[in-house]
Amino acid sequence: MSQLLEHTKELEVIRRNFREYYSHNLKSPSSLHMREFGFGFEKKIDFRHKAFSSDLELKNFIEREVPMFMSYSAAYYRYPAAQPMQKKEYLGADLIFDLDPDVNHANHNKIYCSYCLETIKADTLRLIEEFLLKDFGFSESDLKINFSGQKGYHIHLEDKKLRELNQEARKQMLNYITATDLDLESILVKQQLGYGRFVLKGPGKDSAGWAKKLYNNATDFIRNAKVEDLRYFGLRKKDSEDVFERKEFIMKKMESGNWDLLKGLDKLWENLLKNSISLKSVNVDRNVTFDLARLIRLPDSLHGDTGYIAKTLKLSELRTFEPTKDAIAFKGKSMRIRNTEAVEFDFGGSHYNLKAHEETDVPESLGMLLLLKKHAKIV
Ligand SMILES: [Zn+2]
Repeated sequence: MSQLLEHTKELEVIRRNFREYYSHNLKSPSSLHMREFGFGFEKKIDFRHKAFSSDLELKNFIEREVPMFMSYSAAYYRYPAAQPMQKKEYLGADLIFDLDPDVNHANHNKIYCSYCLETIKADTLRLIEEFLLKDFGFSESDLKINFSGQKGYHIHLEDKKLRELNQEARKQMLNYITATDLDLESILVKQQLGYGRFVLKGPGKDSAGWAKKLYNNATDFIRNAKVEDLRYFGLRKKDSEDVFERKEFIMKKMESGNWDLLKGLDKLWENLLKNSISLKSVNVDRNVTFDLARLIRLPDSLHGDTGYIAKTLKLSELRTFEPTKDAIAFKGKSMRIRNTEAVEFDFGGSHYNLKAHEETDVPESLGMLLLLKKHAKIV
């Protein structure tokens, strides 16, 4: 299996370091004997349908093969190694959420991108706090939060009742989180009074779920809005000034669901609600939650493109998490490398500007990252 990789001095160092890490830090998933495993040397998964009956068997395998990537099934099976899939006898699956940043932005840094790391962390915190804890009513102890080892995060929920959720139920949760099919007309309602007159009824301070999120965002907006902001959201000059003058009164009415003072200002609330949805919804990878046969990175294993630990984090740790300090596996002496191309980035609180073909001493964790990204050779 390991002969997939060409034998080089770099590979030797990588394998020695990975083996050393796993000799002290390998953690089996819960219900090990019911999980399918997949391993990668070149790719994330080069082969799957592996299973282990004990921690020791897994440990021996890892120390012998030293894979670059380790994944396991969110699903539980009676026969996890059986093939094809139907023969495994599916017994349920953890509920998993996978969040990954969109790297298609200006100035994305391929060695270390603080923009990607911070935006996806904010999304992950919103998913946890706004949706999983507040709206779905899970408690913090139900959640297992993991850094993915590269840029994103995984959230695992292993509760026995959740295992039984079918794909349709998982899809409904996803739709809720991503605000797919959210019906604005049922949230902001024109209540007819007859003679063509109507009252505008909307969410108030006692609403729950999405209605409450939209209410909070709308009132925050009005509270902080300047006349120009109201115009930007589609109001005419005179209406903007009018709303601005009466904002306290408008917000007071909105508390009880009376949006009537914004009547006739359809464009404003339509834009406000759309804006709230894009601010509050969370962009999760739908396939990972929905696909019950999916393999996911083993918590606390190493990521073969970075050498970072796919670290298990408490919610309080997630808030301040910084992979170049908190997910470091290799803390040995420094490493002398020669960079193959010029790169500039921050790592572990220091700034690096490495020229092409220059020899440099770097911390071992950074050396490993550059070797794994094939940006450097060992000198
Ligand atoms: Zn980026």
